Amino acid sequence: MDKININELTLEELENYIERIDEKKFHAKQIYKWLHRIGVVSFYDMTDISKSLREKLKKDTYITKLEVITCQKSQKDGTMKFLISLNDNAAIESVLMRYHHGNTLCVSTQVGCKMGCKFCASTKEGFERNLLASEIEGQILTIQRYTNEKISNVVYMGIGEPLDNYDNVVKSIRLINNPLGLGIGARHISLSTCGIVPNIYKLANENIQCTLSISLHATTDEKRREIMPIANRYTISELLEACKEYIKITGRRISFEYALIYGKNDSREDALALVKLLRGMIAHVNLIPVNEIKNGAYKKATEKSVENFMNILNSCSIVTTVRRELGSDIDAACGQLRKKYIEKEKY
Ligand code: SF4
Repeated sequence: MDKININELTLEELENYIERIDEKKFHAKQIYKWLHRIGVVSFYDMTDISKSLREKLKKDTYITKLEVITCQKSQKDGTMKFLISLNDNAAIESVLMRYHHGNTLCVSTQVGCKMGCKFCASTKEGFERNLLASEIEGQILTIQRYTNEKISNVVYMGIGEPLDNYDNVVKSIRLINNPLGLGIGARHISLSTCGIVPNIYKLANENIQCTLSISLHATTDEKRREIMPIANRYTISELLEACKEYIKITGRRISFEYALIYGKNDSREDALALVKLLRGMIAHVNLIPVNEIKNGAYKKATEKSVENFMNILNSCSIVTTVRRELGSDIDAACGQLRKKYIEKEKY
């Protein structure tokens, strides 16, 4: 019989398993806390569980184990970027960012990505597999253990497209949210998508109060198709319809991410077109001077054009901020560290 991944069991499933092996049901809660609040990687660390029960667990089950391979720390702002290995030795990245409102961890949801956004290093090595819910949650537990610091906010903006791994991502949000585990409130969780329209509708009905971020990056379908292949599947108007429905059902404001690319989408006309698209929506725009990746096609917009772009949006009552560039002295753009690691392993 194959061993069970114990981190993937819900509390109810864990209770059923504990009863099946003739142990008292209350042990399930103790074990659940060890796995989802403390994040132990060995049954022997479960110090309030009898040795005989730990032996049974070890025989039937295994623990999702994440290990930090390398860590880079920015000398400028303390941002830390981690390369993490999974049970099958696949590698992913997580980034710890320090804000005045607390530590935020950017987590990966897939090993690689199939979405093909032109400005992104995560997609360059293709797609390997989806992460399990416990591997997404495990990034938070692993980094908390590694740094001995508490993480209070989580953003699903690392490697992978969260809504392309829908079931595991939704399960992971519920895990992270669970008061018996990490207990991070849904309002402290943001999920970023390149715009998989049917799953935006689905997410709206999950009764999860997380913040949704949409990677928009262009104001016409033609330009968006050049930057993001997903635009061949869904038009901007279909995407915005889904966003309006999300706002209607959840009452939550949507954040639109707009990566400013030099000479591509950073003109005054682009800013005015964005105003027209978002007028009347409860929205916030986050401008991101695009991260230049090795052999990437795009250059970062100038500081002046970023400022002009922001001023136009703000003057038209669209709340707009420029994302602070964190970790600019390390490989902070999503997927760059993993890409380097894979290239090194190959040769
Ligand atoms: S930006 Fe996100 S969705 Fe696009 S390729 Fe990168 S990881 Fe995938």
